[in-house]
Amino acid sequence: MSVSPLRSIKVRLTFWYAMTLAVILAVSALFSYHYFSHNLGKQVDRQVREIARTLEQHRIEEHRGSNILESCEHLQDMAHNYNWTAFLVLRDASLQVVCATDNLGGRELPFGPIARQQVRWLNEHMETLELEAGGRLRLLSFPLVSSERLAGVIQVAQELGPLQETIEELRLIYLVVGPFAIFWLCLGCWLLAERTIAPIIEVTDAAQGITADNLSRRLPSGNYQDELAQMVACLNQMLDRLEKSFRRIRQFSGDASHELRTPLTILRGETEVTLRWAKTPDEFRDMLRSNMEEIDRMERIIESLLTLAKSEVGELTLEMKELSLSDLVQELYLQSSLLCETKNIKVQLLLEVDQEIRIRGDELRLRQMFLNLISNGIKYTPENGHLEITLAMGNGYACVDITDSGIGIPAEHLPHIFDRFYRVDKARNRMDGGTGLGLAIVKWIAEAHGGSIKVASEINKGSTFSVCLPIDGPEEGKHPKTTILE
Ligand code: ADP
Repeated sequence: MSVSPLRSIKVRLTFWYAMTLAVILAVSALFSYHYFSHNLGKQVDRQVREIARTLEQHRIEEHRGSNILESCEHLQDMAHNYNWTAFLVLRDASLQVVCATDNLGGRELPFGPIARQQVRWLNEHMETLELEAGGRLRLLSFPLVSSERLAGVIQVAQELGPLQETIEELRLIYLVVGPFAIFWLCLGCWLLAERTIAPIIEVTDAAQGITADNLSRRLPSGNYQDELAQMVACLNQMLDRLEKSFRRIRQFSGDASHELRTPLTILRGETEVTLRWAKTPDEFRDMLRSNMEEIDRMERIIESLLTLAKSEVGELTLEMKELSLSDLVQELYLQSSLLCETKNIKVQLLLEVDQEIRIRGDELRLRQMFLNLISNGIKYTPENGHLEITLAMGNGYACVDITDSGIGIPAEHLPHIFDRFYRVDKARNRMDGGTGLGLAIVKWIAEAHGGSIKVASEINKGSTFSVCLPIDGPEEGKHPKTTILE
């Protein structure tokens, strides 16, 4: 499955990385450009103002406000001494030029009507002038005051050329370097995005290679300790579960078809032999009787399979009612005594309770469960053995133990005893008519009632199956696969 380039995470990541960085770059360039041009402008203003103030100070200290012409004598010297590059002009009270620095080469500094008006009001005036020859000039007209009257005017002008050049250079640098920076940024972001999603692509490729036939494969988690590693671990756990349930389904369908094929083969074999060789009605009757047994067996297997399948999808309902477990156990005891007669097995009932035990449950299912355990006990116990049914209570649970003195179950088989079609001695149990589904149904019934089942067994000594059921019935919502009718 391929992803359209525009939707690819790599493209989108690159785009957003690059966009974010480009915006940050542009904003910082604009900010620094404005900051520098503003600051450099302020620096020029400060310079010209400082020159004007120095000149004024000099006039006050040296000449104490006397004739402005006396200040004129020192103008050139001061410009030289202080290394001023600015143009200086001194005007008298009638605003006429009295002297100027040599760098003006005999020219005058402009003195417009607004500047004139301002100095007459004893205010300084700062302006920027466009020169005809090109370039710009920052010009300060500064009033010299004596006895609160205008004594003269100092004009200080500084060319903005070098400042403008610096700002132009800055702009040029940004314009030339900007696109380059953005190009390299995009490239860097592309490589970064590629590195970021490389493990995702690796995991996707590996996931695409996993099918029902190779479910044992796992996704590579690399050496990462991040969210991706967590996701891969999660997916691998999911694959573990899938593999297990696939294996179970395969095993189950294999077992089910095998179980059904065996009686069918017997049916066909017996029918063929009888059709070929049987002559008398008795021989045909025998064949039909034997066929009937196999049909019964198939019916039992199909019935049990259906019960289990329905229980899995929650189509099996439990009709919960209050019932007397004490009465049920006693009825089962009487029934089992009858069943045991043929094998001369002694049945005992032990009621380890001092009152009647009433529980909530589905009587039919509970009876089915206990009868299954009792008939197993009888089936796997040799003649003259004994069977014990015990009823006890504790911690809100009623427990029924069914103990036999039979052949027992080897320890290695105990963990699988409740699996479908699991038999300890496969050949023998089939001959006995067992389906291998009884205990799986027993477990379902116990758990659907909110209870549990366990088994303890010793070879040649016997087995005990213990079922514990909550007296109040199953907790609500705890068994979603069972429909409970109240
Ligand atoms: P089956 O119809 O074969 O009895 P179950 O599901 O009832 O199937 O039992 C599964 C297997 O567990 C049996 O095949 C048998 O090997 C073993 N088993 C069950 N109950 C007992 C018991 N009381 N004593 C010994 N083995 C038992």
